[in-house]
Amino acid sequence: MERLLFGTGGVPNSARGSSTTAGIERVAELGLGCMELEFVQGVKMGRETALAVAELASKRRITLTAHAPYYINLNARTLEKLKASQDRILQTARIAALCGAVSIVFHAAFYMKDAPAQVYEQVKKHLSQVTSQLRAEGNRVWIRPEVTGKTAQFGTLEEVLELSKDIEGVAPCIDFAHWHARTGKFNSYDEFSFALKQVENKLGRQALDNIHIHISGIAYGKHGELKHLDMADADLNYKDFIRAIIDHKVKGTIVCESPHREDDALLLQQTYRAILHQTNPR
Ligand SMILES: [Zn+2]
Repeated sequence: MERLLFGTGGVPNSARGSSTTAGIERVAELGLGCMELEFVQGVKMGRETALAVAELASKRRITLTAHAPYYINLNARTLEKLKASQDRILQTARIAALCGAVSIVFHAAFYMKDAPAQVYEQVKKHLSQVTSQLRAEGNRVWIRPEVTGKTAQFGTLEEVLELSKDIEGVAPCIDFAHWHARTGKFNSYDEFSFALKQVENKLGRQALDNIHIHISGIAYGKHGELKHLDMADADLNYKDFIRAIIDHKVKGTIVCESPHREDDALLLQQTYRAILHQTNPR
């Protein structure tokens, strides 16, 4: 990645229609740089559509990523559920590759009251099977387990970084809203910087040059995430977040998942450009 792109999780609300192509057109019109395809309720896109999506995204210079279905649990109790979970990741990666997307993200597992270290081994084993299969198919999309928002979900920052270190082709999706909701912390310049340093220490500088971040306002309670909010309605300190991103020279994609996704994506992009300009006036 040569620079940092901002965009929306899903088709912008102001797009002319709800199709992926309408979404890409609107993201380009707004002057944003990326969009995440939401396959959260299932992968229903066909090959023809995917190829048309790839062509349009390339023409409009919009970088694409994709979100896999929610119903994934690599710590499932039955072989059937486990296999279905692996298939959902595979299907997402295959259609994403046809769309020309660079990454897919997914919520890896639930603890199911198991010890986190034990769950980690299950997730690692089952995800490695997925990445070997994709490698055999020549699929080069980055597979990104997401930092999750609820305490019952596998996916602390540490777990996601560890998986990225342990499995080839795996990289983190760092959801800063989730991490804030889950910990009640990580909402200041020093804490955002600390998280970015953790990424660099664990995975090297290249991880900060090829980052994938989710962000939004968020409501949370003692078990973590309740729902996503607009920045204006939430406590997320997005200016400090942007300052930390700039100081660590982060490159890659930042996907905004607020209800008014394009408005907040633009707010983040404007804040980024304004602070960058103050720091390096020309
Ligand atoms: Zn997600």
